[in-house]
Amino acid sequence: MTTNKEDKIKFIFNLKRKGIKDKIVLKTMESIDRKIFLDGIFLSRSQDDIPLPINCGQTTSQPSIIAKMIEKLEINKSCKVLEVGTGSGYQTAILSKLSRRVYSIERYDILKKKAEKLLADNGFRNVTCISGDGSLGIENQAPFDRILISAAAEDIPKILIDQLKYGGIMVLPVGMSKDEQTLVKIRKDKFQIHYEEIFKVRFVPLLEGIPNMRDFINA
Ligand code: SAH
Repeated sequence: MTTNKEDKIKFIFNLKRKGIKDKIVLKTMESIDRKIFLDGIFLSRSQDDIPLPINCGQTTSQPSIIAKMIEKLEINKSCKVLEVGTGSGYQTAILSKLSRRVYSIERYDILKKKAEKLLADNGFRNVTCISGDGSLGIENQAPFDRILISAAAEDIPKILIDQLKYGGIMVLPVGMSKDEQTLVKIRKDKFQIHYEEIFKVRFVPLLEGIPNMRDFINA
């Protein structure tokens, strides 16, 4: 079951209404069916601009927020990208089409395995999915041209700044509160780190380590 043309037009119209201007981002999002990454009762809501539940008590992000984060990432086909928080794999698919190579880390192995299969089955071949704690990055693949974190950090993880190339860009939600964080864009120069606050967002927390029993009870 794929999304019909009319629903796709509405989906893209809504992204534009929310201020997404980058034509390549819009075209890429038009070409990837969010339905592929959803299950059951949520399939019918795939074209709505809302976060939707996935396994392990997590959510797939709101499409207009994904679009804004990727727009701010100024990604291009020569970029090596690190994504922290694979979740459903939907955002990973968009990054895959826009970049040279994507390394995506997810702390729930169940989510990683599912996203990995969906991405492979749907032809997204330049992606490597890894299960583990993404706040540690991937030392043996660093430095990255771009880093996108889709879970909220209390502070900007220093390890990830270290794994960003000079001239590289990182986008992430930052904040102490569970209910509201600020989406931040970081550009790393040789001598300085530049910060831009984008707008307020609400993301699931960036958690350290791999899941334990308590994670599953809470989920
Ligand atoms: N962009 C994804 C968003 C998923 S929600 C999507 O649209 O589907 C954020 C994800 O980050 C969750 O799946 C959560 O398990 C994961 N996460 C949280 N902390 C993490 C960490 N330290 N390392 C890797 N993944 C993490």
